[in-house]
Amino acid sequence: MILWDHPPRCLSPHVLPARSHCEALTWHPPRGDTQVRVVRWTCDCDPLFYELCQAGGVRFIRRTRRSRSDLTIDETDRRPAAEADAMWIALLHGLVR
Ligand SMILES: [Zn+2]
Repeated sequence: MILWDHPPRCLSPHVLPARSHCEALTWHPPRGDTQVRVVRWTCDCDPLFYELCQAGGVRFIRRTRRSRSDLTIDETDRRPAAEADAMWIALLHGLVR
C-alpha cells in the first residue's frame, strides 16, 4: 500500500501529495486544551506531520511544522468524531490539506 511505501523505520503512515482538486482546511492557532488524546498520527520523519486528536466529545487535526529552531502548531475546527475521521482519511489521501 502506497501510504506505507517508505523506509522500514517508518511505522506510521505518510500523507500523499495534495491532489489537484485538494480542498483547503481552515487552520487556527492551538487552543491549548489540556485534555487531548492523540488518536492517530502520521510519520514524523518529515518536518511536517499531523495528529488526529480527541478533546472531550470532539476531534480535530493538529498540524506540526518543525524547523531547525522551533515548532509551529495549528489545529482545524473541532468536529464530531465521524466527521473528523473522514477529514483525516481525506488528509492522508491528499484530498484536503
Ligand atoms: Zn516516515
